[in-house]
Amino acid sequence: MAMNIKRPNGTEDVLPRDVHKWHTVEKIARETAESFGFGELRFPTFENTDLFLRSVGETTDVVQKEMYTVMAKETKFTLRPEGTAGAIRAMLQNGMLNEALPQRIYYLISCFRHERPQAGRLREFHQFGVEMAGSQSPAADAELISLAKKILERLDVKNIELHINSIGCPACRAKYHEALRAFFEPHKDELCDTCKERLVKNPMRLLDCKSPEDREIAKDAPVITDYLCDDCSEHFTKLRKYLDNAGISYIVDPKIVRGLDYYTKTVFEFVTTEIGAQGTVCGGGRYDGLIEQLGGQHTPALGFGMGIERLLLVMDKQNCNFLAPKKCDIYFATMGDAALEKAIELTAQLREFGYYAEYDLMGRGLKAQMKYANKIDAAFTMVLGDNELTDAKAKLKEMESGEETLINLDDKFVATFEEIYFSKMLDVIDDENGSLFAFTGEEK
Ligand code: ATP
Ligand code: MG
Repeated sequence: MAMNIKRPNGTEDVLPRDVHKWHTVEKIARETAESFGFGELRFPTFENTDLFLRSVGETTDVVQKEMYTVMAKETKFTLRPEGTAGAIRAMLQNGMLNEALPQRIYYLISCFRHERPQAGRLREFHQFGVEMAGSQSPAADAELISLAKKILERLDVKNIELHINSIGCPACRAKYHEALRAFFEPHKDELCDTCKERLVKNPMRLLDCKSPEDREIAKDAPVITDYLCDDCSEHFTKLRKYLDNAGISYIVDPKIVRGLDYYTKTVFEFVTTEIGAQGTVCGGGRYDGLIEQLGGQHTPALGFGMGIERLLLVMDKQNCNFLAPKKCDIYFATMGDAALEKAIELTAQLREFGYYAEYDLMGRGLKAQMKYANKIDAAFTMVLGDNELTDAKAKLKEMESGEETLINLDDKFVATFEEIYFSKMLDVIDDENGSLFAFTGEEK
């Protein structure tokens, strides 16, 4: 029967042969975040729709066009389009903001946005995100940017630029909005319909419009950096100083405003030109008003989201290293039922010690079994038949060199295997100049 149900547009399957790439990113992101004092938070895939309306903002693309919302038993729920709203909701609901500040969390989540699917733009995508609540110091902004940068560095991602901007606070933004309205008013009729509405409700959103005509008009628009109040301006100056202190280079780009309404002061993006139009691999910023807006006490906070699919596109393009998937340590080829029983016994013993061992489950002949062992790239093989069982000895074959060692199938079997296995692994490490250790500093 032909399979006629396909996965929805804009979603992806990750197969076992590729999943080690995801594991690499997830492992490095987790370990790096934890070494900066962040702990993992897990929270629901869907939330009450109101949460996103109140945080992401009603004039954003996300809320206006992209949310997946269902009405279930008279309550409106939305699949999370981003992580910050749910993460802050969870921190508030669980009293985390009453504990020692700053509170720092990270998450690895799927997000859902009804966008036009293209390379690097999916309807279900994945983010590594972090949030820090409690600090208003620009040092916290520098800390977060350092964390993102460190993760990209550890993944060996190259040619990524850091763009930063300050979009001020509600006080300085009021003046800026006036200036933007005055600038766009004469062009009102040429703007797209969404931007006509934005001009009234939230003119800064005009700068985030993806339409080429609107972008052309916006080219000479006034920039926020000319309108910052003293407090925001000093915050931005200090952030730049701290980034200099940390040895992190950046480009000030007064045109970044970010796609979500809750940002204040610092916004930043890590951008590459290597994967086409969807080049923003990581985006984030400060959102000092959000926690209060969601019913908490005024608490300055900030965060970023890193798009994992986009990161993997860059890493593939740049031939970055991934942690190698676990390969079969030993494959038992068996002839006859008694040999199969022995293989089951030896496999169980090896698994006690964490080895990846396999034996034939397909009833294949010896030749086909060896072909399979090659296909799965087993490091060692052992053929078991009547002779081996009678002698209680069998040959352990190291597949790469073809070297064979006759070993006893007795109660020292695992210890003997281990000795040969490790002497072989030490050779591999020598050959690769210690690179098995080099990647994360703790791989076997
Ligand atoms: P863009 O301007 O590219 O649409 P955004 O401003 O909507 O990005 P954020 O909401 O800040 O993005 O999300 C953080 C990160 O998540 C982005 O920098 C990007 O790497 C990734 N991302 C956002 N939307 C998608 C998507 N539809 N598909 C894949 N990755 C995405
Ligand atoms: Mg977007």
